[in-house]
Amino acid sequence: MPDKKFHKINPSVAKERVANIWPILKRTYPNAKCSLEHVNPLELLISTILAAQCTDERVNIVTKNLYKKYRTAADWAAQDVKVIEQEIKSTGFYRNKAKNIKAACEIIARDFAGKVPDTMEDLLKLPGVGRKTANVILGNCFNTPGIICDTHVIRLSRRLGLSTNDDPAKLEYDLMEIVPKRNWTLFSNLLVFHGRNICNARRPDCEKCPIANYCPSAGRKEYY
Ligand code: SF4
Repeated sequence: MPDKKFHKINPSVAKERVANIWPILKRTYPNAKCSLEHVNPLELLISTILAAQCTDERVNIVTKNLYKKYRTAADWAAQDVKVIEQEIKSTGFYRNKAKNIKAACEIIARDFAGKVPDTMEDLLKLPGVGRKTANVILGNCFNTPGIICDTHVIRLSRRLGLSTNDDPAKLEYDLMEIVPKRNWTLFSNLLVFHGRNICNARRPDCEKCPIANYCPSAGRKEYY
């Protein structure tokens, strides 16, 4: 079990830690950005729904041809859900994803004049869209910063002693307190890149980690 001292987060210490690791992560991952390929908010919305329990690489392979076929929300809304299921099958959980994509696109076509909405409130009206997906869209398409609580962000925030929560909604608010608002989206993307490259789930490579000096979990045998 992790040492109890890591269960108490001092917000000013956490803020200072964020300030210290921020420039290092920016230098280390100068190209950190959303890895889901897209050219507009609709494509990113569909890709983010497909990315649940699936790798971004797989989603990018599946969507490459799909986005030539489906160009508008109305295109998706008009398609038989069974056809969508077959087209996205390799991303897993395809029945649920197909149902949500079709239903979300029906709402976008009917209630939002075919445009993906640009507020958290409206995005949350779409089936299959939670705060994480909404923040992906807002941060990457509408220049509205948001903390994106994906699996890497949750794991790294806990290892770095920035939050003790594993509930994404609570962890999101913890990070909002200690990361400057303008940096919310990029900070999330930097943690994702660091999680993929060095601080992975099973075997974090603390010896190669450029932020190890600031990490309370560095070199520990057990991790959150
Ligand atoms: S020191 Fe280890 S646990 Fe901490 S962020 Fe780096 S790789 Fe992850």
